[in-house]
Amino acid sequence: MVIRHDHWIDGRATPPDGQAWLATLDPSTRRPGDEIAAGGPADVSKAVAAADRAARAWAGRSPADRGAVLHRIADVVEADAQALMEAERSCTGKVPAQLRLEVEMSAAYFRYYAEVVRAAGQGQVIEQGSGVHTYTRHEPYGVVGVITPWNLPLNQAVRTLAPALAMGNSVVVKPSEYTSVPTLRLAWLASQAGTPDGVLNVVTGTGPQAGEALAADPRVGRLAFTGSVATGRYLSGVTGGGLTPITLELGGRSSLIVFAGADLDRAVAAAVTALAENSGQVCSATARLLVEERVHDEVVDRVVAAAEKLQPATDFGPLITQEQYQKVLGFFADAPVPPATGGGPFQRGPAARGLYVRPTVYARVPHDARIAREGVFGPVLVTSSFSDEAEALAMANDTEYGLTAAVWSGDLAQGLRIAERIEAGQVSVNGGPLTIETPFGGYKHRGHGREKGLAALYEYAQLKTVSASLR
Ligand code: ADP
Repeated sequence: MVIRHDHWIDGRATPPDGQAWLATLDPSTRRPGDEIAAGGPADVSKAVAAADRAARAWAGRSPADRGAVLHRIADVVEADAQALMEAERSCTGKVPAQLRLEVEMSAAYFRYYAEVVRAAGQGQVIEQGSGVHTYTRHEPYGVVGVITPWNLPLNQAVRTLAPALAMGNSVVVKPSEYTSVPTLRLAWLASQAGTPDGVLNVVTGTGPQAGEALAADPRVGRLAFTGSVATGRYLSGVTGGGLTPITLELGGRSSLIVFAGADLDRAVAAAVTALAENSGQVCSATARLLVEERVHDEVVDRVVAAAEKLQPATDFGPLITQEQYQKVLGFFADAPVPPATGGGPFQRGPAARGLYVRPTVYARVPHDARIAREGVFGPVLVTSSFSDEAEALAMANDTEYGLTAAVWSGDLAQGLRIAERIEAGQVSVNGGPLTIETPFGGYKHRGHGREKGLAALYEYAQLKTVSASLR
């Protein structure tokens, strides 16, 4: 049965002003999914007004008090895990392990920011001698607008709204029109957990209709956008002619560099994870595999063998939208070399009914090929070989994007040398973990601002200095 979902505004389900709803799709079957409210400027305005009304009281509560609410949200998210997972499964087709991770990470983000805001949200006293009292405060922006993509519906929303709420902002989220239901459920859960009305609102709808109205609303003090480079560039202009601060997390492509002396078992496993995890629909996926010539063919053979064992619906999910499916098939169609494995959709069986493509490896791809330079956002690895450290670095840096990179080397100093010189916001050396605590964001055209870690907390606050003469 298809269910219709309204917006979540001011603590209640609110039908769309235009009385219109949008269809969604279950990508694992291509059957119709639930319908979501087709929001427009009037709905956005209502949500921003509610957020604006709620902002002052929320900001006035102590960090400990706001943190307690965030902990309660984490509690209800954990208690509701099955329903949240199903809400997300029905619009993304993700495999169970990935769904569980989305829910667990969401709760963990709330808990992390609930705690760190108590320790790190404080300003500073600046000593200027006697007779003067000078201090700084981290003050919220008021209303934060959040526009999220479809690849990690819950996490993309939570990693922004948890620090934004912790710092005392109220939030209006415009989730992707393909995957809005988990975010709507999250907002409903947050209300159950005692989040005051208006502090967390969700308006659904398309980018041009609802997203743009949110970005352009002058009451929105800060915007966080995660999505494509083209939309990010466009939105920078929409946000008050570039004057509203905006955190941009944009798509791109990242490299995984493997030197001959590395622990190849672990490096191969990391490459296979980059391929399978969320079917490569992760902005930080290290889908460009650069391998030292001496071991290139061995590494590729091992990755191909592992990729061929991956099972649809168990190890990897479908592509999440029809557009993305067509886009990945387009990359296959103009690949400059035949695939070492995969390179097409499933012809029969249950996977053929959904938007699944085969885990794919293209080996020894010319560096200037489109599939090597652009973010494919699918279960696709593209390999090249290099002869030495300098060439590896040049190949990895020859991109206009710089979000993450992974380096595998038997020589830690070499790994750290690469880390020092690579133009990326996050580098993992020999599998070093990148977690909620580690700031995440891009170099170059990969956006600006940071998510995760303490850094994200300060993204959602503006620093005020107060200086009083005591004379
Ligand atoms: P993707 O290719 O990942 O879907 P998009 O940039 O198209 O990336 O979408 C990411 C988010 O941005 C979605 O929530 C989408 O609705 C929104 N969006 C798309 N176009 C616009 C726009 N012109 N203004 C505001 N938001 C937009």
